[in-house]
Amino acid sequence: MHGLVQIAPLPPVPLHDLFTYRVPEPLRARIRPGMRVRMPLGRQTRTGVVAGFADVAPPGELRPILDVLDADPFVPPDLLELCRWTAGYYLASLAEVLAAVVPVALPAPGRERVVRLLRRLTPEEEAALARRAPARARAYRVLCAAPGGELGGRAARAAGLGPPAVRALVAAGLAEAGLRPRLRPPSAGTAEPRPPLTPAQRTALDAIAAAIASGDAASFLLHGVTGSGKTEVFLAAAEHTLAAGRDVLLLVPEIALTHQLVDRVRARFGDALAVLHSGLGPRERWDEWRRVRHGGARLVVGARSAVFAPLPRLGLVVVDEEHDPAYKQEDGLRYNARDVGIVRARLARAVVVLASATPSAESYQAARDGRHVLLELPDRPTAHPLPPIELVRLRGRPPGLLTDELSAALAANLARGEQTLVFLNRRGFAAYLQCPACGVAATCPHCSVTLTWHRAARALVCHHCHHRRRPPPACPACGGPPLAAFGVGTEQIEAALRAVHPLAAVERLDRDAAQRPGAQRRILGSWQSGDTDILVGTQMVSKGHDVPGVTLVAVLLADLSLNVPDFRAAERTFQLLVQVAGRAGRGDAPGRVIVQTFRPEHPSVAAAATHDYAGFMARELERRRALGYPPFSRLVNLRLEGRDGARVEHAAREVAARLRRQARALQLADDAVLGPAPPPVERVRGRYRWQILLRAPDVRALRALARLAAACGPALGRAHVRLAVDVDPYSML
Ligand code: ADP
Ligand code: ZN
Repeated sequence: MHGLVQIAPLPPVPLHDLFTYRVPEPLRARIRPGMRVRMPLGRQTRTGVVAGFADVAPPGELRPILDVLDADPFVPPDLLELCRWTAGYYLASLAEVLAAVVPVALPAPGRERVVRLLRRLTPEEEAALARRAPARARAYRVLCAAPGGELGGRAARAAGLGPPAVRALVAAGLAEAGLRPRLRPPSAGTAEPRPPLTPAQRTALDAIAAAIASGDAASFLLHGVTGSGKTEVFLAAAEHTLAAGRDVLLLVPEIALTHQLVDRVRARFGDALAVLHSGLGPRERWDEWRRVRHGGARLVVGARSAVFAPLPRLGLVVVDEEHDPAYKQEDGLRYNARDVGIVRARLARAVVVLASATPSAESYQAARDGRHVLLELPDRPTAHPLPPIELVRLRGRPPGLLTDELSAALAANLARGEQTLVFLNRRGFAAYLQCPACGVAATCPHCSVTLTWHRAARALVCHHCHHRRRPPPACPACGGPPLAAFGVGTEQIEAALRAVHPLAAVERLDRDAAQRPGAQRRILGSWQSGDTDILVGTQMVSKGHDVPGVTLVAVLLADLSLNVPDFRAAERTFQLLVQVAGRAGRGDAPGRVIVQTFRPEHPSVAAAATHDYAGFMARELERRRALGYPPFSRLVNLRLEGRDGARVEHAAREVAARLRRQARALQLADDAVLGPAPPPVERVRGRYRWQILLRAPDVRALRALARLAAACGPALGRAHVRLAVDVDPYSML
């Protein structure tokens, strides 16, 4: 029996975390952490989530909560604990985390009545309901008495409840009866025949299955070359988990690029699957959350935010392509879904499998330290080994990036009727427009970057703030000739290929091409069915697809991602090259990869060319150790930004000075506080930015420092300077 509760309001109140409320006597027996309540807040009535109980009342008069909305915790206990961990680790408030986790669309008033139906009613309440809403009361009774689904569904429809409400009622009915929906038998509806596992796959699966059977937490790094059958292994592990009565969470970097995997999972697991992604409307997201929460879906596939899906009996977390930067949330609540997934598995005593052909330096080092069990799949099970990679050295200023070697290979591939993937990690037509007379380039008025020329749209576009403008008729600086295009983007390559091969079906996949609704699915669809001869694209084409007809992969300019001022640039480049090369030769015909570069001797390029992950990573880890970068240190990035550049700089200097004093008190090394310095892109959307980078071997000391900085937040806010704390930062541009 608890009289005081702490509530996280939805949405949260800025600069506040939890609020304490009194629980009226009749609600005390029922209320538990993770349940939603209605409560007064200011002059409004709001919904909130019970974060926990309070022992001591804060000073002042306490207001009572008005109602408890759930019969079972809406946020299950291990998920609530995960939210608490997330708030603590990423220096956010619990209210902020819960707001990011719990679906925002709370039920409309009519729907709220349905939701209230879902908790067990007392006999008096039921009698009252029967008087007020006889049909709904009937539906409720039918569901409680015979929660078989069909019968309940018909009764609910008769009661005038719409399909989402019916689904919710049925799910709740099943949950209350302690039943779970039946799984489609594994053999039904499988689109693909299941190959017998290779010995390496078998060894990996046996290790994971043993951990699942033990019921204890365990963590694995599944490192297998592209096309080695990692997916087969973790889908088989998912079957073991479901058979053991526990649920599965499968995280993917980007759901839109993963249709193939989703189809494969659906073919195997049918209706037990829920797909969570940002494309869901608020209503759908709400329905899926409820379905998952009440055991209506036993397997969730989703991108980063799905790591918080309310699976009640989590047994397996798979993080596919664990190295992918898309797992890092870059605004709002900044978290890394891979790392949260690892913690979630630990809290739920579940098994976690991180899968990749190019594991991140962090995960690989963790495996070397014994924090993950390393499982390796060194070969492809199919007849064809990894494709050979040919390096083509670029010299001087390449007119169009289509070298003779590449053009010949492409023409030969087309003549054989085979598919070609052309990769260039820069969208747009040209990189920038520059005055041929005075050399001034067109730049964004809000950000300190050049604008990218998109010829089809006849627009100069800022890739940071999306500012668009028409090109000026004359150079704005010297009044001279019109600006000329320099540099090459995917759009220009597409146009060039169409011109050279007018009969070939050429398509482009990048963020511009994928903007129209359904475009992405259509482009990938005709690529997979073999209708597209040449697909030109950015890193969007490097992941996820298994298209057997692709025999030639061309990387036009490998250097692009090397020239980024980021300590992960070498790792990122290696990963991109290996991943994109891995798209070739997955079918019966052997593959071929051509990589064009100005620096064929660069370690990232040279190692990728020989598919030498171990060699690359050994060197890269030594370099990181020598420079004191992760995984041999931890980082926290503090970003201050505001419209008045001088003020931001002044504030950054003050905060940094304070942090240095504190770092000395904590006996941290002299270089624990780096900066302040402006990031490479100093101004974005009209806001000036300064950064302070905290670095130490121990994350606890670092978080103590970061907390001190976070405590300056309100004072900075009064000076119109915003502070963002990024723990384990990924992008510092
Ligand atoms: P990865 O996830 O490592 O990229 P997949 O699991 O997608 O690899 O497998 C790549 C291809 O190899 C798929 O077409 C898959 O059907 C096939 N495959 C996987 N395992 C086997 C096996 N044991 N025998 C034959 N083919 C296999
Ligand atoms: Zn801009």
